[in-house]
Amino acid sequence: MTGGYGGSILRINLTDKKVVKEPTPDDLIRDYIGARGFIIRTLFKELAPGTDPLGPDAKFIMAAGPLTGLFVPSSGKIQTGGKSPLTGGYGEANSGGHFPEELKLAGYDMIILDGQSEKPCYIVIDDDEVKIEDAGELWGKGSFAVEETLKKNLGEDFQIASIGPAGEKLVKIACITHDFGRQAGRTGLGAVLGSKKVKAICLRGTKAIPVHDLEGLMKVGRRMYEQCFTNPAFELWQTYGTSAVVNWANRIGAFPTRNFRGGYFEQFTNISGPRMRKDIVVINKACYSCAMCCGKYSHAKTDKYDVYVEGPEYETTAMIGGDCALGNIKDVAYGNHLCDDYGIDTISGGSIIAFAIECFEKGIITEKDTGGLVLKFGDPESVFSLIKMIAMREGIGDVLAEGSKAAAEHFGADSIKFAMQVKGLEQSGYESRRAPAMLLSYMTSDIGAQHRPSWAVTHDIATGRDSAEGKAGKVIELQHTRPLFDTLGVCRLPWIEMQVPVADYAEAYRKATGIDYSEQDLISISERIWNLTRMFWVREVPGFGRASDIPPARVYEEKLTGGSTDGGILEREKIEAMLDDYYNLRGWTNDGIPTEQKLKELGLDWVNLP
Ligand code: SF4
Repeated sequence: MTGGYGGSILRINLTDKKVVKEPTPDDLIRDYIGARGFIIRTLFKELAPGTDPLGPDAKFIMAAGPLTGLFVPSSGKIQTGGKSPLTGGYGEANSGGHFPEELKLAGYDMIILDGQSEKPCYIVIDDDEVKIEDAGELWGKGSFAVEETLKKNLGEDFQIASIGPAGEKLVKIACITHDFGRQAGRTGLGAVLGSKKVKAICLRGTKAIPVHDLEGLMKVGRRMYEQCFTNPAFELWQTYGTSAVVNWANRIGAFPTRNFRGGYFEQFTNISGPRMRKDIVVINKACYSCAMCCGKYSHAKTDKYDVYVEGPEYETTAMIGGDCALGNIKDVAYGNHLCDDYGIDTISGGSIIAFAIECFEKGIITEKDTGGLVLKFGDPESVFSLIKMIAMREGIGDVLAEGSKAAAEHFGADSIKFAMQVKGLEQSGYESRRAPAMLLSYMTSDIGAQHRPSWAVTHDIATGRDSAEGKAGKVIELQHTRPLFDTLGVCRLPWIEMQVPVADYAEAYRKATGIDYSEQDLISISERIWNLTRMFWVREVPGFGRASDIPPARVYEEKLTGGSTDGGILEREKIEAMLDDYYNLRGWTNDGIPTEQKLKELGLDWVNLP
């Protein structure tokens, strides 16, 4: 068995309850490394083109990487994947905590679910033993209650990943929750689990993860930790986590405000990291093997609610705070709690609510549509009510549960111009009209408008915020480097914030696995994975091409209001010019399709072009 890997893939068919274990294939390890690489290769090879993402033939996958659970900083990460019910293209979500390493300790690199159970069920994986249990009593319950109940019944040493009512109701922004508040949030994969009638996956692993050169791994691991501990920013990250970004994003005018109409929220100090720390944080919380512990466990109490929640982290504060104009950190935390418990993605949730409020302001929807609810920016009740209505598909929530793109198509009246999404996925928390590289990152991300594969705001600040020239190369470099961490099964934050070099991760990979890949070899595989993902979109989404990468018209037709980016806009010509550069550098056609030559170069000649 190759070091670093659990060694097995677990397949469970929910229709006939068949469980199959198979060794993780050597060629999969060699050509796709792990986690996101394993997911896209499996989907591309095993999913028939045009499969209904919520039908019995759809696959739901959770996959760890070769460094997940090992002695390197922040190795408690996992990827969840499938065909997205929200976008119809490649769906993936990253999450961290203690669920991920449990998968490896049970001896698995990947769990693949297909089929559909007739009745609600939950899956218990206890090392080699796999059981499918009746979940009748849990169906309808919130994620927190489910996790608490299953831990009580099975034992504290089980890790639980579950869906809330939103996943059961096939809400297309439904997420999966584990570790009492960590989410595999994006692309609606909670609905895929819900369509299979799986309420939860429970894991316990007691095995050792094999390592090729343990002493060598310990040596490089110690060096990586040392780099974190001695970094001047270490304490800041422990104190504030990602909420430290709120003040900075407002200063540079990149904080989404009132459905991305501006990049500056005038009440930002009320929802900033220092305010959050002072008013609601109870204790720090970390994923497995992480010293940075960016997670914050908080208590939000007023005369209307009294809840505990992990967070809010930056993206949630940006989307439920600034984008919906909530200027009280307790209200943001309560909104976060509701999303987690009902099981919806806070980024898409916040964005869709901001979109609905703007539609209401413009008279595109009225009290007749909302059942008497008056929607207003800055009004906590508007936000809390819509979270519940979306999660339960009540009233107008049923339309919004399909995502902002589908809702805009339903409402009409040009609302598509300010539905802030690309490829159907709502944009995450950076306003980017004066950050062209960041905008290009959103336009070309592999799942829709997500920051994870390329976060380029600082590059824009360094190279000119109105210039679109020369941005494509940096975005491509980031799109190969950042997803590599998701492929290895580790958090990227020690690299970004503590400057742990990529070369150390490559060395840790060699020591763990015994596979002699250089840093460049790993980056080249990351490029293969990126191109295969693109081809999945080409295969699954009719008419996919250049138009799919264009952002909503608000970006190039409306000027920003407020803050340091007031008056900012990015002209359509500049957007088109960036795309030309990007496609050219990637070796894709002018319509954004990888060429035959490019696919061959990357060892993807088995992939058919349309
Ligand atoms: Fe988890 Fe935060 Fe640590 Fe990353 S930095 S591993 S997200 S606690």
